[in-house]
Amino acid sequence: MTTTNGHSAAEQASVENVIIITSAAEQASVENVIIIGSGPAGFTAGLYAARADLSPLLITGNDYGGQVSITYDIENYPGFPESLSGPELVEKFKMQAEKFGTRVEFDYVKEIVVDQHPFIVRTENGAEYRTRTIIVCTGARPRYLNVPGEKEFTGKGVSYCATCDGFFFRGKDVLVVGGGDSAAEEALFLTRYASRVRILHRRDKLRASKILQDRVFANEKIEVLWNTVVTEIMGENGAVSGVKTQNTLTGEEGFLTTDGVFIFVGHLPNNELFPGKLELDEDGHLITDRKYRTNVPGVFAAGEIQDKVFKQVATSVGQGCGAAMSATRFLEELEAGHAIDWRADPREFASPRVAVLA
Ligand SMILES: Cc1cc2nc3c(=O)[nH]c(=O)nc-3n(C[C@H](O)[C@H](O)[C@H](O)COP(=O)(O)OP(=O)(O)OC[C@H]3O[C@@H](n4cnc5c(N)ncnc54)[C@H](O)[C@@H]3O)c2cc1C
Repeated sequence: MTTTNGHSAAEQASVENVIIITSAAEQASVENVIIIGSGPAGFTAGLYAARADLSPLLITGNDYGGQVSITYDIENYPGFPESLSGPELVEKFKMQAEKFGTRVEFDYVKEIVVDQHPFIVRTENGAEYRTRTIIVCTGARPRYLNVPGEKEFTGKGVSYCATCDGFFFRGKDVLVVGGGDSAAEEALFLTRYASRVRILHRRDKLRASKILQDRVFANEKIEVLWNTVVTEIMGENGAVSGVKTQNTLTGEEGFLTTDGVFIFVGHLPNNELFPGKLELDEDGHLITDRKYRTNVPGVFAAGEIQDKVFKQVATSVGQGCGAAMSATRFLEELEAGHAIDWRADPREFASPRVAVLA
């Protein structure tokens, strides 16, 4: 398979140089697990690796807590029926991971070296770590419109996730910005709650798949406003009240009254460290198997850096747990002296299954 960065998966998987460490002092200077990222996937990987007695090191990155930290209220994370704010949930994740021995470093990873083992992780603050395994939890970020009012009203009517926030818009009027599959899917989802959903798209046709377009056009609650962009998000009393618009063909300006603005103009994985090192799909997500293995033995990935489907706190937490369990198994193999085929891609992709009906 040839990847986006022009390297074959096999090429990228090959670990050229395995350094055998014999002295106890040197052994101790090598980390068991380095976790990159402090979102839900990262802290959960830390919790599980710590409870496996691996004393993991978690490097937070510049966005401490990840996307959760910019979330106003989380109502769909199980165990918190009263809901809680994103920063509160991040603090609980951190406390629980640290309680069992996760070491948290406020730093940013600028380079990983995965063609030798132990791997090397270099950071902005000048640290250089050697590690037996890496769990990548660098997540993703929504593409912003970058218009006035967007930041100010995030969580107060501006949203990037219909599954998370649709519930708050029961009986209300909302706008969806975008024209791809996500915009179409989320607009359809929002019709469960909102009384009216208007899709604003900068062009004169949607990019969404034909089947989604058919559903959008057939839905009585949805209206599409073509050739329209949002130029400013306005609010009153701390909540969204409307948007200023512009027609991309005529330049004509307008104003739409609304209760909410859902923005789906792209989702960007934080993958700057990986081209040429780990296999990425056409959208830039790491390709893992169901055990969260990447194409390099000993490097695992969890959360939105490898999941472009579910994109939830609960799913990212589950994936962080799975990746840490896989890293633990891998370290047990190393410890037991089992031969690791460093040149082989370790991922097992499930072969198509045929349902057998009785
Ligand atoms: C506004 C908003 C509201 C949301 N609301 C909800 C909700 O109500 N319910 C819900 O379930 N989901 C919600 N989500 C989605 C949810 O937040 C994400 O699915 C989840 O945070 C993904 O977790 P993650 O651990 O994969 O990555 P992220 O949360 O994206 O965290 C990534 C982490 O990686 C770090 N990082 C990146 N690059 C580096 C590097 N080079 N070195 C070190 N660290 C690095 C970042 O600093 C960050 O800490 C919301 C998302 C947004 C944007």
